[in-house]
Amino acid sequence: MASIQIKLLIRVTMQHARFAQVQEGVLVGATQIASPNFNARPAGTDIQLIVIHNISLPPSQFGGGYIQQFFQNQLDWSLHPYFQIIEGMQVSAHLLILRTGEVIQFVNFNERSWHAGRSSYLAQKECNDYSIGIELEGSDDLPFEPEQYQSLVEVVSTLQQAYPKIQNHLAGHSDIAPKRKTDPGEYFDWPLFRNLLAQHKLAEKTSIDL
Ligand SMILES: [Zn+2]
Repeated sequence: MASIQIKLLIRVTMQHARFAQVQEGVLVGATQIASPNFNARPAGTDIQLIVIHNISLPPSQFGGGYIQQFFQNQLDWSLHPYFQIIEGMQVSAHLLILRTGEVIQFVNFNERSWHAGRSSYLAQKECNDYSIGIELEGSDDLPFEPEQYQSLVEVVSTLQQAYPKIQNHLAGHSDIAPKRKTDPGEYFDWPLFRNLLAQHKLAEKTSIDL
């Protein structure tokens, strides 16, 4: 684990950020795929929270494009027994980070995506109203890829600049819906992520100061 951390730290601090800007609710540098599964945030609601999830379709299998199809309501439910369990569900996330680190945006940040379900953060219910949902392609029983941490760090840093009320309000789905949800799961390394995020911000600040 130590060598992964060092490798990631070097990348995070040295590499030019690919996802450094939000323009009118769109993350520049992300692949754009439109999901129909969104609606308006309640009037006057600021974005205040990032929720981190994991998803894989079928569970613990990666690639194949099924998550993208699911979020577009275009998944062929007959392809896998698990798909029949989720048949007809209409959900989305603002962002999906694939195993390669590729970032896909499905819903404009100004809109409410349908990722959290019944949920509560710091006694404020209905997290979809005021959060940005980020799915990592993954599962509760497998480690995430270094490329995913790297993209997540860049994305979260950029979102925190674009939406200042987020700042330290980062939660896992399991934190806001503890009886229903377990993701992003114990393999999501929160200390590593927070460390990388801090390093990234420091590197950005230093390069701006120079
Ligand atoms: Zn989730």
